[in-house]
Amino acid sequence: MLRNVRCLVPVLALALLPVGVVGAAEKLPNVVVLATGGTIAGAAATDVQAGYTSGQVGVEQLLAAVPQAKKLANMRGEQISNIGSQDMNDEVWLKLAKRINELVAMPDVDGVVITHGTDTIEETAYFLNLVVKSKKPVVLTASMRPSTALSADGPLNFFNAVAVAANKDAAGRGVLVVVNDWIHGASSLTKTSTTAVQTFLSPLRGLVGTVAYGEAEFYRGAVGRNTVDSEFSLDGVTSLPRVDIVMAHANMDGAIIDGAVAAGAKGIVIAGVGNGNMTKAGLDALAAQAKKGIVCVRSTRVTTGLVGRNVEVDDDKLGLIASDDLNAQKSRVLLRLALLKTRSLADVQRLFIEY
Ligand code: ASP
Repeated sequence: MLRNVRCLVPVLALALLPVGVVGAAEKLPNVVVLATGGTIAGAAATDVQAGYTSGQVGVEQLLAAVPQAKKLANMRGEQISNIGSQDMNDEVWLKLAKRINELVAMPDVDGVVITHGTDTIEETAYFLNLVVKSKKPVVLTASMRPSTALSADGPLNFFNAVAVAANKDAAGRGVLVVVNDWIHGASSLTKTSTTAVQTFLSPLRGLVGTVAYGEAEFYRGAVGRNTVDSEFSLDGVTSLPRVDIVMAHANMDGAIIDGAVAAGAKGIVIAGVGNGNMTKAGLDALAAQAKKGIVCVRSTRVTTGLVGRNVEVDDDKLGLIASDDLNAQKSRVLLRLALLKTRSLADVQRLFIEY
């Protein structure tokens, strides 16, 4: 009985609204599409070949290729860059973040979709997660197959990304990545296959939700500080400090660590073996650089799992930071932003726990 009364209340409320207000409630959300390139804008000479070139198709062609998305949102597009994401760089990052912050501050923009390559989408998404100042949905999407391929995955990924960006329930969950029907958080996703359409996983933190033909279901909120709760800002920032990633391996010596510092790195992230570990020679070189003021983070080359402080390596004694659950490529993003503000080891370790 009570259930029936509850169902009637919204119907009655709607019936009592003036016609103009009902019309306004039905207006489509406004979504801006920012294109950066990638395979989703890639083209090949035939529809059944592996070789292709990223970043060939412009944003207007992308929008025109998925007319179904016009039922979900009013869309307009802007071309930020047109590159394979293996070439993603600071200049594009700063331009993209600045433009998103301008757009989300506009009252008539409800959400933003960014088309991107899959290779570094997790880095761009995590960067934006730390520097975008809005709860409005900001959604990245990509594809594994170029637009010309048989069974191209880009059009449906794009459709689903627009659906999520237009969905009020997506707000306040941090920057999202929508690929292959799954909604990932920027801090959790990682690319796990070089070629498979099902390449992205969110180990440890899990999926934010799923989306099937535009119907989204959300399972969780944001994990880790982000967007409006982030202490990072790009105000006045024109460049980011250099941080290099060094992968640990059997028989590693300290040459690459020292070489990175000689090349100008202010911070180093180790993609360590196992729990962020490395050879004694590697650790000696790292600790020596840490002593000289280079901020050194231990992450892992393993796809999933935490890197814990003082577990196998004495971080307190050697002056090192443990990455917690951030992989090496995202640790690099966080450390670059951290170095804009601080070199205090306690502060940087706190950032790795909180973000
Ligand atoms: N190399 C391409 C890129 O990241 C791969 C892709 O988009 O799937 O731009």
